[in-house]
Amino acid sequence: MNSLDFEYVNDKIQNFSSVSERLLKINVHTAYSIIRHCLFVPKFTYVLRCSHLWKHPSLLLKLDSLIEDTLSSVLNIRFEERSWTQATLPIRHGGLGIRKISSVSLPAFLSSVHSAQNLIDSILTPSLGAIEAAHCTEARNVWSLTCGNTDPPSNPCSQRQWDEPLCRLVRNSLVDTSTGTADRARLLATAEWESGLWLQALPSPSIGTLIDNSTFRLAACLRLETITNVPHRCRCGAMVDSYGHHGLSCGRSAGRIPRHASINDVIRRAFVSVKVPAILEPVGSARDDGKRPDGMTLVPWKLGRPLVWDATCVDTLAPSHLPGTSSCAGRAASAAEDLKRRKYATLGSSYIFEAFGVETLGPWGPSARRLYKYLGSRLIDATGDQRAGQYFAQRISIAIQRGNAASLLGTLTIGSDLGDVFYLL
Ligand SMILES: [Zn+2]
Repeated sequence: MNSLDFEYVNDKIQNFSSVSERLLKINVHTAYSIIRHCLFVPKFTYVLRCSHLWKHPSLLLKLDSLIEDTLSSVLNIRFEERSWTQATLPIRHGGLGIRKISSVSLPAFLSSVHSAQNLIDSILTPSLGAIEAAHCTEARNVWSLTCGNTDPPSNPCSQRQWDEPLCRLVRNSLVDTSTGTADRARLLATAEWESGLWLQALPSPSIGTLIDNSTFRLAACLRLETITNVPHRCRCGAMVDSYGHHGLSCGRSAGRIPRHASINDVIRRAFVSVKVPAILEPVGSARDDGKRPDGMTLVPWKLGRPLVWDATCVDTLAPSHLPGTSSCAGRAASAAEDLKRRKYATLGSSYIFEAFGVETLGPWGPSARRLYKYLGSRLIDATGDQRAGQYFAQRISIAIQRGNAASLLGTLTIGSDLGDVFYLL
């Protein structure tokens, strides 16, 4: 890299710094979306692919520090080493999807040089013989050294294929060094695809997917296990630690009822969108104890039978669920769905019953996934938008996070000052 390139990179860093300061003046969800889609790595992709920036650790460190400082300020989160490592993983691996430049630079360069090799061959090989792009062998050796016995990508032009083994290494290392069952359960849960849907939602107030500052920040803290509040006594009398987890499973959890209502409303609206009228709490389909299911379609859903559903959200980190959730992601949601099915066994064959079990940290149960699959494909058919199903799932994910935030904030006793207890913006 010559001096001009260094100058260019340093100019970019200056630009990033000035933009970062302005992000603090807007909504956190919007700022996060800008960082993820338009700043740092997305803005720097061309440089990463066309230069051997991966060989310049001081520049990488400078850029990574800027990303960390920006995200830390926007989210008002103080990152520890583990939480920062997790945050910089892709969303599908449990991170926030804000990648470090140092993580992306090598896969970007490798995929780029392999993509250009055919062109290099056609131009230079006839006159100069076989020539490989500069630094290519060295980059491949560095990658192989890091990834151990992993085979090189089947498609070396794919940046994702070079990146994926590196991401898996980091994620597995976090899981292997987890500090306890709760930490392990959290890491397993956050790597499920449903748990990161709220991070992929478009911050749009007109379609109800803009997440307010406090909710977004608390959701990020729960995902990364960073400190949310000063330890205090909950309304129920139990102590709330600095991570606020007690609020999620508290018997007097303030977010449970609005979260439940919100999830059911999203499901009912989805049915209405596919021209299947549905109502909440239908009369005439009560179970033995007199309780009614959460919703029912008013016209047959399948095989001439209406669909009845019942939603539930259980806490991934509740002590009673930890043995299951720390061994397999989504185990608590799955168990909750089984329980619902047993309770509604008396509904008989006149209805199709689907339990919709989700967890506070995001995973869904198998029945919820099945209903999403049906509804998602019907939504795509009805709207012609290939992402319609995804939007439905994102709304469920946002409803869970809003409920979580209400649950955490609801641990505050009457008369306490919110700003004295929670590290909000
Ligand atoms: Zn409590």
